[in-house]
Amino acid sequence: MIVVDNLVKTYPGAGGAGEVAALRGVSLNIPDGEIFGVVGPSGSGKSTLLRCLNLLEKPTSGRILLGGDDLSTFSGADLRSARRRIGTVFQQFNLLHSRTVLRNIELPLELAGLGKDERRTRASSLIDLVGLSGKEKSYPSQLSGGQQQRVGIARALAAEPEVLLCDEATSALDPDTTDQVLDLVAEVNRTLGVTVVVITHELGVLRRICTSAARLEAGRIAETGRITDLIASPDSALGAAMLPVGD
Ligand code: ATP
Ligand code: MG
Repeated sequence: MIVVDNLVKTYPGAGGAGEVAALRGVSLNIPDGEIFGVVGPSGSGKSTLLRCLNLLEKPTSGRILLGGDDLSTFSGADLRSARRRIGTVFQQFNLLHSRTVLRNIELPLELAGLGKDERRTRASSLIDLVGLSGKEKSYPSQLSGGQQQRVGIARALAAEPEVLLCDEATSALDPDTTDQVLDLVAEVNRTLGVTVVVITHELGVLRRICTSAARLEAGRIAETGRITDLIASPDSALGAAMLPVGD
C-alpha cells in the first residue's frame, strides 16, 4: 500500500516572485497491485507528486508511506535503497545513448553493486519480458520510440521495485505504439504484481489500463475512485469525461 498523507510541496518563487504551492495537501491510498492513474490539467501538480513519490523531490510537509515505511525519514544509504523500491519510466525515455540496450537495463544493477553474472541474468530476462529479444546489443538510436520505451520499462524494473511510476510515459508515442506500451505495463502489473502509478493527461490511458484514478486540480485531489465507480457516478466530472462520445 502507498499512503500519501497530506502532502504539501511549495517551490520558492523565481527571481523574488511569490512561492508556488504545487501540492496543497494531497492524500491518497493506493492498494498493492493497482494501476492507479493521476490526471489533471497542466500545472496541477502531477509531476511534482510523482517526483515526491520517487524521492527526487523533498515534500515541504506531509508523509509518504510505502509498505508502512515513512519514506521521508530516510537519508544516506537508506534513502538510496528506498529509491530502489520505486522504478520510474520517463516521457523522453532518458536512455544513455552510449550504452547498448543490455547495458542500459543493467545500469541500476551496477549502481546497486550487483556482480556481472547476476546483472546479465536479470537484464536478459527483462529483455524477454518487454519483448526485445535480439536487440540486446542495439543502441537506443537504432530503436523505434516504442522499443526505447520498452528499454525504459525494463530498466525501471531492474532493481525489482515494488512500485512502477510512469510520468507521461506514452506522450511521445503514436496511438498504436501507445496502446502496445500500455498493454506491456498492464502485463508487467499482472505478472510481477508491481503496483503502477500512471501520470497522464490522456483519458484514453485511464480507460485502457487503470483500475483507479485521481484527478488533481490546482494541487488538490478534486476526485478519486475506482474507474468503474467514477464512470457509473452521475456526479463525477472525470467519469463523464471518460464516457465515449455519444453515450
Ligand atoms: P504538466 O501537465 O504541464 O506536466 P503538472 O501537472 O505535471 O503539469 P507540475 O510540473 O507538477 O505540473 O507543476 C505544478 C506547479 O509547480 C506549476 O505551477 C509549476 O510551474 C510549478 N513547478 C514545478 N516544478 C517547479 C520547480 N522546480 N520550481 C518552481 N516551480 C515549479
Ligand atoms: Mg508534468
